[in-house]
Amino acid sequence: MQANSFESAYAGTPPWDIGRPQPAIIRLAETNQITGWVLDVGCGTGENLLYLAERGFVAMGIDGAPTAIKKARAKAKRRGLNAQFEVGDALNLSVPERPFDTVIDSGLFHVFSDEDRPRFTESLGRVVRLGGTYFLMCFSDQQPGDWGPRRVTQAEIRWTFSDGWRVDDIQPSAFETNLGPAHAWLASISRS
Ligand code: SAH
Repeated sequence: MQANSFESAYAGTPPWDIGRPQPAIIRLAETNQITGWVLDVGCGTGENLLYLAERGFVAMGIDGAPTAIKKARAKAKRRGLNAQFEVGDALNLSVPERPFDTVIDSGLFHVFSDEDRPRFTESLGRVVRLGGTYFLMCFSDQQPGDWGPRRVTQAEIRWTFSDGWRVDDIQPSAFETNLGPAHAWLASISRS
């Protein structure tokens, strides 16, 4: 899916835009795995980030689709939450004043082509502190059928993050979508 197809998807409610945080992200927060200054990369309309903001995290979200960012900002305002949302390209992230401690990714990595993947890891590597953690949640190859994004294998995750990163853990997880649940991998990857 190209960046402009995401933008047009946000004219309506796309299947991934469930209007609440993903349970897997809630579990990460509840088990204190999310710490410090947080980036939500490919944040969409912001439910995961707004959930974290509500719990007191200082967090920023970026997404390539201006309509998603507009919707996210409107929700933050309506809910009285302090969260920063910016239009940006995950393949070319601007270097922040200080690097992020934690990055969450709910459904971004699996949109990238093989060629995009090394561009993404390089871009991400510039904005996460050494020892910081990137939580990658993507559609897994255990998901049958062919609706939705491309399926990702554990080996692909390990291969993509083999240089400058350490893959600490990959667990089976699940996405909630407006079309039902889908098998996911949840990987915990640290910048080394
Ligand atoms: N994390 C959100 C959205 C997942 S859908 C959620 O859980 O609801 C994937 C998102 O990645 C879309 O919002 C799309 O606009 C965004 N995206 C795709 N390519 C991007 C890129 N290169 N840079 C930034 N965002 C991108």
